Amino acid sequence: MQKQISVSGIQPTGTLHIGNYLGMLKGAVDLQNSGQYDCFYFIVDLHSLTGEFKAEEKRQQILEVAAGCLAAGLDPKQSTLFIQSHVPAHTELGWILNTITPMGELSRMTQYKDKADRMENNVGLFTYPVLMAADIFLYNASVVPVGDDQDQHVELARTIARKFNGRFGQTFVEPKAVHTTTPRVMSLDNPERKMSKSLPAGCIFIDDAPEVIKKKVMSAVTDSGSEVKYDPTNKPGVSNLLEITSALSGKEILELEILFTGKQYGEFKSYVAQVITDYFAPIRERKAKLLKNPEKVLKIFAAGSAKANKIAEKKLAEVYEKVGLI
Ligand code: AMP
Repeated sequence: MQKQISVSGIQPTGTLHIGNYLGMLKGAVDLQNSGQYDCFYFIVDLHSLTGEFKAEEKRQQILEVAAGCLAAGLDPKQSTLFIQSHVPAHTELGWILNTITPMGELSRMTQYKDKADRMENNVGLFTYPVLMAADIFLYNASVVPVGDDQDQHVELARTIARKFNGRFGQTFVEPKAVHTTTPRVMSLDNPERKMSKSLPAGCIFIDDAPEVIKKKVMSAVTDSGSEVKYDPTNKPGVSNLLEITSALSGKEILELEILFTGKQYGEFKSYVAQVITDYFAPIRERKAKLLKNPEKVLKIFAAGSAKANKIAEKKLAEVYEKVGLI
């Protein structure tokens, strides 16, 4: 029986943080390890050019993320791992999709609106979700493991697929976003905002040293009162820590609440810091080892790119034919 296909990408904009891990990578690894999916996971270097960047830092950022993905459990024997720009069909299909995507649909994207407010606008930032649709369609993916900030983009991909299929005949699978139990990890120092590298004090990186993790967790914003209770509306800080800890320890949130009944926030936070440290220790070690041999890491991704190219070229040829190109 044909397996379902899982596709997702991650931007090389710096070191991965536990939001990336818990929101997307962990889910991607789980789908891979379930044996029920053919998985394509890639470093979306072209997407990352839509933000601010320095050319001389990009190679290192790509290596960082590639090593982080491998260290976190993506396995080139089970998944096709590659770099987006090494598979030209992504941008080629992106162009075709640009020509059928209404401006109005793109203008509604909240991520674009948020980012456009904060930085200098560029056309790439605006059309980014169209390239993302191409990323998904080339492999006939039905599931896309992502954080919930990407839901609207996956929904747009479904709209584009329907539009294309309606006009040119059945060609693209309508994909669905799939989530882990932690689709939105919040910043430790501002639990109203998503964890992101742009808020470094509230962001734990997957290879932060134990003392750095401890410092960040101990200074995490908690809420008034002193009860360790899950209540995202009134206690967003504590609830965020509970969600992270539950996902990493495998303990139910209720179990954690019971464990800390009558105890102070300080004791709870020490526990949280220890859970995070223990969980990421082997990942940190594997990543450091991989980065000692960057050529080997790049070779793994080059082999994946060769595999991805074959599949993507075939799909692109089908699309060219459907739209009448010769
Ligand atoms: P990006 O760095 O934007 O390419 O993000 C890679 C993946 O991590 C995407 O699927 C995002 O939705 C996910 N992600 C990023 N930040 C978070 C967060 N704070 N919580 C959950 N998922 C996240």
